[in-house]
Formats: sequence, C-alpha cells, structure tokens
Amino acid sequence: MILLDGKKVAAFYRERIAQKLAAVTQRDQCPELAIVVVGDDKPSAMYAKSMQKTAASVGLTAAIYQKGGEASEEDVTALIESLNQNRQIAGILLMMPLPAHLDSQRIINKICPEKDVDGLTDSNVARLFTGRPAFVPCTPQAVMAILDYYHIELAGKHVVIIGRSNVVGKPVAQLCLNRHATVTICHSRTADLPAVVRQADIVIAAAGRAGLITGSMIRPGATVIDVGINRVDGKTVGDVAFDEAAAVAGAITPVPGGVGSVTTMMVLENVVHHFGNA
Ligand code: NAP
Repeated sequence: MILLDGKKVAAFYRERIAQKLAAVTQRDQCPELAIVVVGDDKPSAMYAKSMQKTAASVGLTAAIYQKGGEASEEDVTALIESLNQNRQIAGILLMMPLPAHLDSQRIINKICPEKDVDGLTDSNVARLFTGRPAFVPCTPQAVMAILDYYHIELAGKHVVIIGRSNVVGKPVAQLCLNRHATVTICHSRTADLPAVVRQADIVIAAAGRAGLITGSMIRPGATVIDVGINRVDGKTVGDVAFDEAAAVAGAITPVPGGVGSVTTMMVLENVVHHFGNA
C-alpha cells in the first residue's frame, strides 16, 4: 500500500512556487494575493491567517482586506473592483461564507476571472465544464495534484466520487472526466452506496461524514482519496475508515496530512501561474 503523502506533494509545489517567485522578484514584478474577509466568521479568519502565513513562507505577499459584518454589497463590490484594477495583485481570494445578507455568487462574479485563483466565478466554472483552461477550486486541484505526483493514471479508470458540492464534488468530477476517466458521482440519495463504491478504481470521498467509506467498500488495490474533514472526539478524521481501507487499498491519503495539506498551496500556485516556469 502506498501512503499518498500530502505533505510531500505540498513540499514539491512550495519549492516550485518559491523558484518562480525568486525569478519574478528579479524582474521587479512580484505578484501579490489579496484575501478578502467580510464579517467575523472564525474559521474564515483562521484560514485567512494561515493562508497569509503559508504565502509568506514561499516569499509571496498576501494582504488581508477586512470588511465588517454590516458591509453592504456595494462596499464589498467596490473593494473587489479596486483589487481588480490593482496591477500588483495577481489573485483575489474571497473567504466564504459571506454574511447572510450578501448575495455570494453575485459578489464572487465581480472578481476578474484572471484573478479568480479559487475558480469560483461563473466564467471559470464554465471554462472548466467546457474543457478550456480555467482556474479550478483549490481542493479539487489538490486532489489532481496528488494523483499526478504519484503518477496515478486516470484515463479509462472508473472514478467514484462521493459528494456533489459545487466546490468539491462537481469540479473534481469534471477534472477526472477531462482526463478521460469514467466518472460516477454519488450523493445522499444514492441507492446503494457500497455497491457503487466497490466498482471504483479510484474513490474520492467528499461527503463530510466520518467513517462513511468502510474497508469493505474498497475494491482491493483501489486508490482512495479522502477529502473529508470531520472532528470526532477532538480529533480530525476523514470520510474514510482509514485503517480498514488502508488494509485493502493500493494507495490512500491520510487525514490529516493528505488533501488538506495541498489545498492552500494550490491557491498560491494559481497566483504565480502567469509568472513563467521555474
Ligand atoms: P457539502 O457541501 O456539505 O457536500 C457534501 C456532499 O456529500 C453532498 O453532495 C451530500 O449529498 C453528500 N453526502 C452527505 N452525506 C452523504 C451520505 N451519507 N452518502 C452519500 N453522500 C453524502 O461539503 P463540501 O464542501 O463538498 O465538503 C465535503 C467534505 O470535504 C467536508 O468534510 C469538508 O470539510 C471537506 N473539505 C475539505 C477540504 C480540504 O482541503 N481537504 C476543502 C473543502 C472541503 P447531497 O448533495 O445529496 O446533500
């Protein structure tokens, strides 16, 4: 069994991003990431800080733009438009969720698609779904980065995805389809989840249900990518019962130390995307 180590994949991208940045710094064009936080959602604030720290660790400036919870749609839109026009800023990351009185998708769509490093604008979604180059949400991108790093082929494989959200399940399905996999998407109304998962060459679990995918659902030798992040008895666990799945899988990601370790790095990778190859 191969342990698909997200930290190794993240280290690979960290090095690549740092090299790209070193090259652009010499050209005096260092890109910056703008992180927009609206309101006082604690996880958003923590994620923004951790993103800023990770960015700094690769030599990238990431500034947090904070708006109060009472901010109007016009206030937030005006901020985004000023960031769109700022040539120094290569990427804009809008922390979700926004306060309930704001129309999230309408605000997301104000982000210029070329700076939409988390791939959430309708424009980038359309590009992904029509097979054109696009920014893709960072978690699905992290899944693909892990599969690629470990040379796990997708063409002709049956990929079973558990979860159909717009940020994880659907985009990862499309990415796998674009790589010529045969894709099945499961959700809470799937009639016989174990029977479907058992057919998979590659399982991608993104349901947010601890222990949903058991060892008996895994076909011997299958690859298992666990996107889930759940808190159980003070511990972070995935959607896959790791020990029993690892006993039958050919390759598996741990939680923590799997997909989550790579996700932040994908945003940074997208920020430096335009800046030449290292
Ligand atoms: P979400 O919006 O809550 O979507 C969950 C999906 O799972 C839904 O499509 C739901 O089906 C399906 N589902 C729930 N219970 C199920 C069951 N018993 N059987 C089959 N399908 C079931 O969640 P999300 O934002 O996609 O996130 C999914 C998980 O990934 C969460 O644990 C989240 O914390 C984690 N996550 C991790 C990262 C990372 O970097 N590692 C990033 C983002 C999210 P319905 O559509 O029918 O309701």
